[in-house]
Amino acid sequence: MKNAKLLLIVGALVVVSAVAHSQNVTVMPGQSHQTAHFLIHYPRPLEGLARSIAGTLEIAFLTTCNQMGTRPFGDNVIYICDSDSDFRQFHPSVGDSWITGFAIPMKRKIVVRSPSLAKTTREQFIKTLRHEISHLVLHHAVGKNVRLLPRWFDEGMAMINAGQWEWLDSWSLFQMVIFSDPLPFSAIRDAFPSGASEARLAYAQSYNFCLFLQTTLKKQQFEALVAGMRSGIPLGTQLERLFGVPFAKIEKVWYERVRDRYGVYPFLTSAGVFWFLLTILMLVAYARKRRAARERLAEMEAEDEFIDHVLDGKYH
Ligand SMILES: [Zn+2]
Repeated sequence: MKNAKLLLIVGALVVVSAVAHSQNVTVMPGQSHQTAHFLIHYPRPLEGLARSIAGTLEIAFLTTCNQMGTRPFGDNVIYICDSDSDFRQFHPSVGDSWITGFAIPMKRKIVVRSPSLAKTTREQFIKTLRHEISHLVLHHAVGKNVRLLPRWFDEGMAMINAGQWEWLDSWSLFQMVIFSDPLPFSAIRDAFPSGASEARLAYAQSYNFCLFLQTTLKKQQFEALVAGMRSGIPLGTQLERLFGVPFAKIEKVWYERVRDRYGVYPFLTSAGVFWFLLTILMLVAYARKRRAARERLAEMEAEDEFIDHVLDGKYH
């Protein structure tokens, strides 16, 4: 069950650039709702859901366009599927998997499983859509130079824009610091590992590294990275110019930050652990107090019995 849940989460983050299977898609039966930038297709019973998320998706789209420095663009289509067969017709290879959604940026299409089909909450469903919208916008912003877009940057920004950091990602970085080494970003430039735990680490690293760049660079410098790729300058080259050191050194500085944040010492001194230990101490103290009270009560009952016995002896 744990593995299934992990695959579900990881699956939500997949972007499918291939478009081969999307060519002959039969539009699924149902209805559609047109917003300023999206045409949302949905099965009839999901009308309420589709209409209620439209505003949120528009805001996410405009915010991401602004972040990526590109003008908002139309003709984007979202398909909400309520059956595996509908989902499979867009990309047969994902039909039986735990993937909850994927983007086909070249076609400006997003395909998602409905919350009931994916067994997710409405909130997770919206996060999946925000994640895929980020892929759509970033690919559009980079334009014909999409080959210069590293997978770690694409996924890291999608996770940040969707707010998809979870405690399992923290746990993944903690395990990496204690037991292994980070995956080199050159190794997750074109593709992510297929194993569940390594894939989780790749996503966690990507998110964390993008956040590190976002908080270390000036706002204009960070925003200029996408424009740089659009004009044909590899992301690594741009970062080396901005930091003034080789990319390996930038990775090293990032890793030192991760070690400071996710090592054993910060774990033990973190607020969460402090409150956890405090709660445990309070529960132990409460249990001891209750036991003492019970023992005192038992003693008192024994005393009562003794007195009764003495009194009985006296008056009988
Ligand atoms: Zn993704």
